[in-house]
Amino acid sequence: MKLLVATRSSHKIAEIRDILAGVPDLNLVDLDEARVPRSPAEDDLEPHDTFEENAISKARYYHALTGLPTVADDSGLEVEALGGAPGVQSKRFAPWDGADGLERDLANNRHLLSKLRGLPPEARGARYVCAAALIESGRSPLVFRGEAPGRIVDEPRGNGGFGYDAHVLDLESGGTYAELPPEAKNARSHRGRAFGALANTLRMRST
Ligand code: IMP
Repeated sequence: MKLLVATRSSHKIAEIRDILAGVPDLNLVDLDEARVPRSPAEDDLEPHDTFEENAISKARYYHALTGLPTVADDSGLEVEALGGAPGVQSKRFAPWDGADGLERDLANNRHLLSKLRGLPPEARGARYVCAAALIESGRSPLVFRGEAPGRIVDEPRGNGGFGYDAHVLDLESGGTYAELPPEAKNARSHRGRAFGALANTLRMRST
């Protein structure tokens, strides 16, 4: 089965490729390999209040362009003390005019920490959430949700991962998600859980 992984994030693609690696007869292609040029329309694909709706919106868009079975990820960080913010706005949390990438991530992290200033560790609970939506011709959409608990720390730790990872403690290891080796992050992260469930569904189909 050929499956389009519809994201422009190289970090997400790397994680998703690892998580789906064990599924037999699965040929993953990314947007460059499927020759989908960037378009300003891509900026308007996440207008909804839930990860699930945004993931479906993205997967539908790229499925319509390519005709390929398409999976898309919408994900983010929900912080208890902020009533679940930044949530679906995680990528756009800090005011930012520039491109996606490290600078935007750093601005988002500064913004997050400024909002939590002075709060003790026990008031810094958070969770990562990921929705993975699969759109295929002739089938109903499937959406898989994964969550991973954490706690926000002021001092960045670790060089792995992306986004908020250096400031989110993985409660199981006591290190941040940026300190986890990729296989450990993928084993229990929000994305690992959502795409792990997708992997199980695809595996069952192939037997
Ligand atoms: P999306 O493109 O709307 O799904 O935005 C996802 C945003 O949520 C990213 O830009 C990150 O800021 C954050 N995010 C999602 N997943 C992760 C992760 O695994 N680690 C760190 N940040 C993440």
